[in-house]
Amino acid sequence: MTVPTVKLNSGYDIPQLGFGVFLVPPAEAEKAVSEALEVGYRHIDTAAIYKNEEGVGAAIAASGIPRDELFITTKLWNDRQAGDEPNAAIAESLEKLGLDYVDLYLTHWPAPKNDNYSHAWQKMIEVRDQGLTRSIGVSNHLPEHLDRIVAETGVTPAVDQVELHPAYQQADVRAWGDANGMKIESWGPLGQGKYPLFENPAVVAAAEAHGVSPAQAVIRWHLQRGTIVFPKSTRIERMRENFDVFGFELTAAEVDAITAIDPGDGSGRVGTHPNDLN
Ligand code: NAD
Repeated sequence: MTVPTVKLNSGYDIPQLGFGVFLVPPAEAEKAVSEALEVGYRHIDTAAIYKNEEGVGAAIAASGIPRDELFITTKLWNDRQAGDEPNAAIAESLEKLGLDYVDLYLTHWPAPKNDNYSHAWQKMIEVRDQGLTRSIGVSNHLPEHLDRIVAETGVTPAVDQVELHPAYQQADVRAWGDANGMKIESWGPLGQGKYPLFENPAVVAAAEAHGVSPAQAVIRWHLQRGTIVFPKSTRIERMRENFDVFGFELTAAEVDAITAIDPGDGSGRVGTHPNDLN
């Protein structure tokens, strides 16, 4: 099974479906990522703050999979945006991952009260130019943050990784990405199990029509709308299920019905508002 890729503004391709490891305990990360690689995932999304980069790195090393067949993302945590901290932080992440470079390095949150995110973006450009990451992007950035970092550096992020699922679709961030050649990554693609997506009639109807699970229907919705997605599970049967989404296609009407789930008033958000996390 070949996962489709999305071309980033850096010229590199990212597999559109990956495996996320938020809340995978450090001691379980090696096993979970080894199993994910066995299932066929080649794109792994981690972060310094997840404290499981060593486990991810151990699984990569044990897999024997050639480095250029893998796409590894990690992220700069909020308390390391100032001064030369981003340079030190990526060096530490690479050491833990056992890698010479990552494929994508992201500023994890803008943390606007600290007012360091534009400086951090300048540093991301520097570490990219040093070859420590192939592509650079951001996470949890709203259009106001994106406008500022581009105005101050002239460099557009390859991606913005934001909370995005049928109940919270971030239309303004998507529109910014479409207008500026930046791709959108959906975090919490299944609503983190906190929003009752799997009982929603539009999701259930699409799943039943194709003989798939509600989770598979929702992952397909992301893929068909062009976002990059990396659902998380530590259960191998769910890793397999979430990867087995290329044997069916939702109709345009099914996609539209799932798109209509978003109440449109922000009440579907399950995570923190980017301006509130510092
Ligand atoms: P998710 O929407 O992927 O939900 C994960 C939960 O959904 C699991 O804990 C499990 O309970 C359930 N689940 C998974 N597969 C299922 C299935 N087939 N059937 C039923 N239930 C299933 O949420 P997430 O893990 O928060 O998001 C995915 C990834 O996004 C993370 O692992 C991480 O890599 C990234 N992320 C990034 C940020 C950020 O701030 N940048 C924040 C959160 C997550």
